[in-house]
Amino acid sequence: KLKAGIIGAGIGGLAAAIRLARLGYQVEVFEQSARAGGKLNEFRQDGFRFDTGPSLFTLPHLLDELLDEDLRFRYRKLDVVTQYFFDDGTRLSAFADVEKFATEVEQKTQVPAKRVLRYLKQAAQIYRLTAPIFIFNSIHRFRKLFTWPNLGRALQAFRLKPLSTLHGLNQKTFGDPRIIQLFDRYATYNGSNPYKTPGTLSVISHLEHNLGAYFPAGGMYQIVEALLAQANRLGVRFFYHTPVESVIAGKKSVSGLRVKGENRSYNLVVSDVDIHHFYRTLLPDSRRLKKMERTERSSSALIFYWGMKKRFPELELHNIFFSQDYRHEFSCLFEQKTITNDPTVYVFISSKENLADAPADMGNWFVMVNAPEAAGQNWEKLRQRTRQNILKKLQRILNQEIENQILFERILDPVTIEELTGSFQGAMYGPSSNSPFSAFNRHPNFRSDIAGLYFVGGTVHPGGGIPLCLSSANIVAEIVEEQLTEKK
Ligand code: FAD
Repeated sequence: KLKAGIIGAGIGGLAAAIRLARLGYQVEVFEQSARAGGKLNEFRQDGFRFDTGPSLFTLPHLLDELLDEDLRFRYRKLDVVTQYFFDDGTRLSAFADVEKFATEVEQKTQVPAKRVLRYLKQAAQIYRLTAPIFIFNSIHRFRKLFTWPNLGRALQAFRLKPLSTLHGLNQKTFGDPRIIQLFDRYATYNGSNPYKTPGTLSVISHLEHNLGAYFPAGGMYQIVEALLAQANRLGVRFFYHTPVESVIAGKKSVSGLRVKGENRSYNLVVSDVDIHHFYRTLLPDSRRLKKMERTERSSSALIFYWGMKKRFPELELHNIFFSQDYRHEFSCLFEQKTITNDPTVYVFISSKENLADAPADMGNWFVMVNAPEAAGQNWEKLRQRTRQNILKKLQRILNQEIENQILFERILDPVTIEELTGSFQGAMYGPSSNSPFSAFNRHPNFRSDIAGLYFVGGTVHPGGGIPLCLSSANIVAEIVEEQLTEKK
């Protein structure tokens, strides 16, 4: 039987394990930490449960298609995608129902509802044209890329002016600073800067508003549990507390992995680890590392997990408290490599959907602000200062004391994100997407010069986030399947 070795049990690694096991491979997954999930993880404390990483769940069918029917987990489409709090006191609910959302925007801000509807229709069109090329396909296989249908799509997409920045597009469309900010924020979903990233990134608003935001019953970690159950059923073997030391490869092909001082043979190897970490330690390559280090990193995050004594009925599952000066916030992140004193604050409370995540009448708050990648800042100082700024802001906008409601606290910052998941400088999505050509700078899902070596996960093509990591595993499995068929 053909054997596959997978490095890392993040979302990409788990999905690849399932796909390859279905193709008939005997699959072994090595994970350095005690459990699977990588950035998608959870912890429990004093009767509370917290999802530690991803909180927003879109395109659930990508998971359904990986799982046998009896292993699928339940998830619910949210009625209110996000509750927005603006600095001028405006409160706005982003209803899942697009018409209702557009009406809410019109009532609260005077931006005509039809403008919102037109924008979301255009975002849907961009998605339809670009996703088959850039998300669900390898852009590094020219035979597959330069096809007539793709050329037609690319020309049509070009007519939608993808080269203006996301902010430029939103400013022209909405005029109102609050709604510009609301749609600019989607740049942060892949750790980018709305003042630089291309307008095509409006596709992210399409995922959330047109296709819907969901939440798994039992919390985000159910995604990992379901993938693990499926992989186990297919006979995949997992080794925890087992870091891979190096990849064994000649000039033309890969032959195995070095694990705990022993060589293990594999016909193919899939890396789900941060691509910088891969070339730094697993298959050292200083030329590639240098190139990566020249490329701008995506943003990271500073997160406070607070067990809260109260329920806060005015809050939803996802809440955003916007900063007053968004441009300054991003200049702090990407140029000054610090956190502004007035950051946009995201509060995610999974106990709103999943009552068991907090004791009765309490709440589990995941409070996150965007942060620069770890580049030698004084994180102790930044953490303390930002905590005070967050509390000040929440207290002012919610008009009540917050700090005395906190029962306990845990903190995750770019340095600990790097320590826990191996992501270079704690950047959440590898390289940033701050240029129209960023997609082409991402590492391919394979090496054309080294047969049998593949790459999945958030730092390679097509990018970060659960759906894109799942797509990277599909792309790898498709290539492997094609090669198996060619050999027959
Ligand atoms: P990773 O999660 O990066 O896992 C890699 C695994 O490899 C880790 O388990 C690590 O321990 C292991 N490893 C590393 N080195 C070795 C080695 N040498 N040997 C063995 N194992 C090794 N996405 C969304 O879709 N929605 C969200 O709302 C969202 N929010 C986020 C919030 C935060 C705070 C963070 C950090 C990320 C968020 N993301 C979100 C992004 C999403 O979490 C990631 O893109 C995705 O989980 C990355 O998966 P991955 O396959 O790249 O693997």
